This record gives sequence, structure tokens and C-alpha cells, in this order.
Amino acid sequence: MRKSPPHGPKPAPAAANPRRALILGGTREARDLARLAARRPEVDAVLSLAGRTAAPLETELPTRIGGFGGVEGLSRYLAENRFDCVLDATHPFAARISANARAACAALSLPLATLARAPWRAQEGDDWIVVEDNAEAVAALGEAPRRVFLTIGRLGVAAFRRAPQHDYLIRSIEPPDASELPRRAEVVLARGPFALADEIALMRARGIEVVVSKNSGGPLTYAKIEAARALQIPVVMVAPPAGEGVAVVESLDAAINFLVGGAA
Ligand code: NAP
Repeated sequence: MRKSPPHGPKPAPAAANPRRALILGGTREARDLARLAARRPEVDAVLSLAGRTAAPLETELPTRIGGFGGVEGLSRYLAENRFDCVLDATHPFAARISANARAACAALSLPLATLARAPWRAQEGDDWIVVEDNAEAVAALGEAPRRVFLTIGRLGVAAFRRAPQHDYLIRSIEPPDASELPRRAEVVLARGPFALADEIALMRARGIEVVVSKNSGGPLTYAKIEAARALQIPVVMVAPPAGEGVAVVESLDAAINFLVGGAA
């Protein structure tokens, strides 16, 4: 596990008894929250990243990087570092760490809240095939060869090796493992946000016939969905996993309120 010092402008001076908060991150929202939390003397927060991206963007909070070692490791980390609460600001599809946070916080009786993005909803003109996971997404592409824009992140691409008849344009922040790529795949590396005009131009230029996306919600990657609508291209949409009864905060203000000790 690596530890990095706080970056950027100096955080606010600590209050007498600041609340120790662990923010589970890896999202734009978590970074925005880290910036706000760094300015609140009532909170002594640490941001935790999985370490999936080799060069994560800098934040203004002390940041720890790497897995904890399951529920047990997370529980130990929370207890040893005397955390008072946990805010789960991970991606809606990061189901394992969220489940671990639920179990660890229940065991330690620590308050836990999830900073949730509302999922995208299909609207007039959208042609979505909603599926539960990547395996179902593969099946939904069908037997006939198609030009597929695969935008589910690098970790899920291996599932599509089972459908080698398609041509894949794969977009991810960092390159997928070469051994996990489907046979006919081109990789473009990019980090959102993406502009609608660029998404339309890219899909037109590559003759894309179907988009595969996670229903991640939020504005940063929504342009591909709007582009598919504009071009009348179907979207195979992987539904987010269920949250299971954790308190939800829906805005950065509500998240800060939770961190300083308010109700979620
Ligand atoms: P995951 O399947 O839920 O987690 C896998 C393991 O990674 C966890 O068991 C945990 O390891 C470690 N981990 C995950 N998030 C962590 C965090 N914030 N701090 C410390 N350890 C963490 O997660 P994932 O889908 O691989 O996503 C990994 C990270 O990328 C998350 O932080 C998420 O916010 C971000 N992300 C994910 C997606 C996506 O589509 N899944 C998209 C954008 C960003 P231990 O069990 O060893 O503690």
C-alpha cells in the first residue's frame, strides 16, 4: 500500500475534535467531496483509492492507495485508525468494496452512507436493451457481426472474447490487458468528460452499430448515450447492482453534512 501526502492548497486547520472520516473514492464525485472536506476543520478525512489507475488525479486530502484485504482488513484499518464514519463514494458498479464497507461498518457500529448517482433513465428516442451483467450484454449483441462501441471500462472486456465475430472499439482510461481483448479490437484511451459532438463524430467515423455501456449515471459520460440517440443506434445498457439498504446521500452538500456528524 502506498501513502501519498496531501496535495494542492493547504487544508483548513484541524478543529479540537475533528470527526475522523474515511471516504472510499475512485470517482469524480469523491474527488469533489475531498476538495470540500479538506476545507472543513470539523472533519479529519482520508480518501481511499483502489489503485486501479496508475496515475490517479491529485486530491487535497491525505490519500491512501490499495485494497484493505477484504472485510477483515477494512475493519482492522477502520478500528486502528479510529474512524468515526465512512462515506462510500465509489462507482455504482464497485459492488465488492461497497459490500465490504457495509459489513465492516455493521460490525463496528460505524455510520455509513453512500453518495449515489441517480442512474440514467431511457427517454424518447432511446433504444436500450437493459441487461444485468456483461455476460448478458455479450448475448444481447447477437450472432451477426456488428461494430460495437464497448465503454464498460477495461476490467470487463474479457467477457466479450466469447463473441469474437464482432469488431470492437474499446474505450478505457488505461489499456486493458492484451490477453483479455476480443480478437478484433481497437482500443482508444480517454478519460471523460466527453462532448456530444465528439461522440457523434467518433461513432460515425467508426461506423458504430451498437453501444455497450454501464448505467453509471452522472453527466461525465452521458454524451455517448445522447450520441446513440441522435444516430438511432441501440445501447446495450448494463444495470447497476442494487445498493441494499445503506443510507443514501444524493449531493455533495448532503455528503458533507453526513461527514460533519449530521444524519444521512
Ligand atoms: P470492487 O470490485 O468493488 O472492489 C474490488 C476490490 O478493490 C475491493 O474488494 C477492495 O479490495 C478494492 N477497492 C475498491 N475500491 C477501493 C477503494 N476506494 N479503496 C480501497 N480499496 C478499494 O471495485 P472495482 O469495480 O474494481 O472498482 C475499483 C475502483 O475503481 C473503485 O474505487 C471505484 O470507485 C473505481 N471505479 C470503478 C468503476 C467501475 O465501473 N467498476 C468505474 C469507475 C471507477 P480489498 O478487498 O482488498 O479491500
